[in-house]
Amino acid sequence: MPAAQAHVPVAAPAPTSSAPAILPDFSTRTIFSAIPALPSLPALPAAPAALFQPVPDAPAAAPGAAPVPGPRQPMAYTSVEVDGPYIALTFDDGPNPETTPKLLKMLEARNIKATFFVLGARAAAAPDIVKSIAAAGHEIGNHSWSHPQLPKLAVAAVDKQIEDTSALVQSLTGTKPIYLRPPYGAITQSLQQHIEEKYGMSLIFWSVDPLDWKYRDAQVVHDQIMKQVRPGAIVLAHDIHATTVAAMPRVLDELIAKGYKFLTVSELIAKGKPVSPKVAALAPAPKKKVRPIHPPVTPASATAVVGRPLPPAAAPAGQF
Ligand SMILES: [Zn+2]
Repeated sequence: MPAAQAHVPVAAPAPTSSAPAILPDFSTRTIFSAIPALPSLPALPAAPAALFQPVPDAPAAAPGAAPVPGPRQPMAYTSVEVDGPYIALTFDDGPNPETTPKLLKMLEARNIKATFFVLGARAAAAPDIVKSIAAAGHEIGNHSWSHPQLPKLAVAAVDKQIEDTSALVQSLTGTKPIYLRPPYGAITQSLQQHIEEKYGMSLIFWSVDPLDWKYRDAQVVHDQIMKQVRPGAIVLAHDIHATTVAAMPRVLDELIAKGYKFLTVSELIAKGKPVSPKVAALAPAPKKKVRPIHPPVTPASATAVVGRPLPPAAAPAGQF
C-alpha cells in the first residue's frame, strides 16, 4: 500500500543563526498576533459569490459527511525523510504575470519540476499562467484565495477560501489541489483537523526559508537556500518577487551540481521512508526546540509533523 503508508515527515532543521527571528515566541497563542503582515501583498479581491460552482467530487462537502475515503491519509509535512538527495521547491503567492513566466522558463531549461502554491485571487487574474504551470508538469497547491491568517477567520470563511481556490484551479487545469499551504504557516490543531477531514488535504509547510519576501536580495536568497538545504527539504520561495526569480538560475545550477534531484511535493512525499503506523505514532517530538523563525512548527502542529493519522471517525466540525 505505498500511497497509504504513513511516512514520518521530519521536523525542520534549526534555522541558522544569521536568519533573524520573525516571531517573538513559539506558542500558538502568540503566533497569530505577532505574524507580520506580508508587506508586498496588495489587497486581493474576494471571490465573486456565484462565480464558482462547488467542486462536484469534493469528498466531504456535505455537513456531517464521512471522512474522506481513499489511499492517502492527510498529514502535515515540513520536510520528508528520504534516502536520496531529493528536495521539493515550492513557490507561493503567485501567479505573477511578470515573474512567474520567467521562473517557468528557468525550470524548463533545467527540466525541473516544482510546486506552486497559488492564491485564488491571483490565479483568477492570470488564468493562462496557471494553465501553463500545469501544462509544464508542475504541481499546483492551494494557498487560499486572498492570503488571510486562517485561524482568524470563521470556519465557513476558511472553507470558502479553500473551496473557491480549489474550484478555480480545477476549472483551469482539470486537477483539484490536494495540498494546502496555510498563509504565514498559520494554523491551529483543530483547523488542521477540519481541513484534513473535510477536504482530505495535507498541509505543506517548509524546512528551508530564505525569507525572500523580506530581504528582496538575490544574494541572500541564494545564500540562505544553499545554507539550509538538505535531503528531504521543502524549500519555500515566492515567485512574485523579481529578486527571488533572479536568484534561481544560480541556486538551481548549484543544487544540480551538488547532486540534488527536484521533485514535486507529491513525488517527494512518495519517496518518504515508509514506517509502520505504530512507529509513526511513537515517533518522539523533536528534542531541539525549533526556533521561532519557523512559524508552522507550533505546539499545535507538532503532533501532526511526526505523523498523526486521522482518527477513525470524524470529529464534529465547527468546534472552534
Ligand atoms: Zn504566502
